[in-house]
Amino acid sequence: MKAGKTVCKRHETAKKAGYMTEFRREKRKTLTLQINAEGNLIVKAPLNMSERVIQQFLEDKRDWIAFHQNRILEKASQYVDHRYEPGEPFWFLGEVYPLVKMETVEKPRFDVAKKCFMMPKTGKAGTSVESEVQAAYRAAFLEYLEQRIPILSKQMNVNPRKIGIKVYKSQWGNAKNTRDIHFNLRLALAPRMVAEYVLIHELAHLKHMDHSKAFWRFVELQDPEYAEHRAWLKRNGSYLNFSRYKRLESSDL
Ligand SMILES: [Zn+2]
Repeated sequence: MKAGKTVCKRHETAKKAGYMTEFRREKRKTLTLQINAEGNLIVKAPLNMSERVIQQFLEDKRDWIAFHQNRILEKASQYVDHRYEPGEPFWFLGEVYPLVKMETVEKPRFDVAKKCFMMPKTGKAGTSVESEVQAAYRAAFLEYLEQRIPILSKQMNVNPRKIGIKVYKSQWGNAKNTRDIHFNLRLALAPRMVAEYVLIHELAHLKHMDHSKAFWRFVELQDPEYAEHRAWLKRNGSYLNFSRYKRLESSDL
């Protein structure tokens, strides 16, 4: 990001929540406001715009800013850090697997038959819980992919060469023209139909290597509700995180 002077200061309306306002002076014609996933306000202003004009603009947009920041605050409050205590929910494709700790368990894993997330009673020295939990998600997600990809590929008449899993920050899947497809492991934390939409999206790229109308028509044939699933990811994607879980009582799943 190219920028001139950057000044950070707290904006009045967001003081309570601890949100920051970041001012950026840039070579641009118009003033824009953005609220990032953390709820911070980013103000991008032309180099020569006066401070008074900027402040007036912020004043005029106060309700809009408050509305969006409150929404983010509310969303964030639905998530809690994992403490790995018995009974804690572990989400997998929209279902909850409560944590059960047992002496005989060697490392974290999903137990599909018992519908729970198993962990050893005492952690091993030198291993991080987070990475072991992530490995458990990877194993379960791989099993899901191995089961679903052949079925979807047949329905869509496509032929992927290799299917893999990565942890991406800003993409849900990736299809190359070598027919290698990778999926973001964080999809394991999304509802099943949302993950399924991403599977369909990437497989559809084997027919259309773009986001043309023909591509979306092809996606729609497999997932008539794709627009809703796509919107869900836009709204909730940044909250899908292995170190936190969504409270059971929260809605929007
Ligand atoms: Zn795409």
